[in-house]
Amino acid sequence: MVINILGSGTSTGVPEVGCRCEVCTSSDKRDDRLRCSGLVDVDGVRILLDCGPDFRQQMIRIDDFKAIDGVLVSHEHYDHVGGLDDLRPYCRFRDVPVYTEESTANRIQKRIPYCFAENLYPGVPKLKLIKIETDRTFVVSNNEGQSVEVLPIRVIHGKLPILGYRIGNMAWITDMLTMPEEEIEKLKGLDCLIMNALRIMPHNTHQNLEQAIESAKRIGAKQTYFVHMSHQMGLHSVIDAALPEGINLAYDGLVINI
Ligand SMILES: [Zn+2]
Ligand SMILES: [Zn+2]
Repeated sequence: MVINILGSGTSTGVPEVGCRCEVCTSSDKRDDRLRCSGLVDVDGVRILLDCGPDFRQQMIRIDDFKAIDGVLVSHEHYDHVGGLDDLRPYCRFRDVPVYTEESTANRIQKRIPYCFAENLYPGVPKLKLIKIETDRTFVVSNNEGQSVEVLPIRVIHGKLPILGYRIGNMAWITDMLTMPEEEIEKLKGLDCLIMNALRIMPHNTHQNLEQAIESAKRIGAKQTYFVHMSHQMGLHSVIDAALPEGINLAYDGLVINI
C-alpha cells in the first residue's frame, strides 16, 4: 500500500492569507500545508481520502493520472469537499463513486445540486454518491474487478458525528475531537494511523497536539502521522523533533509505504 499525503493543513491552509508569522513565512517546504487530503493505492485500487479545495493543485503535483475508484468523505465541511467539482477529468474513466454516510451525502447534494440534477449540463462531474452503513465494512472496486474493504470509524468533531476510515492496516481520521471508546477496538493492529492534530492550544472541535498524542498512544499504531495542522502548530522541524517515538508530523508530499 502506498499513501500519499496530498495535504496536511487545516481549513485555512498554511501559510494563511495575510499572516507573517514564522510558520507562514518559513522557507521549509514542510511548513506549506494544503487542505487535508490523502491518496491511497492498494491492490490496484486508488482511493481518495476527502476532496478539499486544493484537490486540483494536489493532483497536478502527484502527476500520475489514473482512475480514482472511490472518494471517502469524512464530513461535509468545505475544506473536505470543496474539490468535488474538480473530479471532472476523472469522469473520463468512469462516474466517480463518492462514499459517505447518509447525512453527509444529503448535505453534499445540497452544496452542489447541479451535479445531481436530472439533466446534467455538459462538463458537469458525474459523481455517484454511495450512502454507506456506518457499522459495517464496504467494498471499493476498480474497473478490472480488484477490490478493497473499508471499515468506517465513528469519531466526533466537536458535537458533529463524522467518519474516519480503516483500509487494511492503515486508518485515516481527521477533524476528530473525541472518539467513542468502542471504536478503539476497530483500530487495533494498525501499521499506520493518519490523524488530526490542529495546534498547541486547545480547540472546541479538533484535537490539539497533546490530545492527539494521547489518542495516538491509546490506538497504538506502529507509526502515527498528524495532519490537519494550523500555523499555530509551530515549525515542522521544531515540533516533529520533540514528538514521542513512532509519532511524527506529516507534510505535503510525504509518501508512506506499508
Ligand atoms: Zn477540517
Ligand atoms: Zn470539519
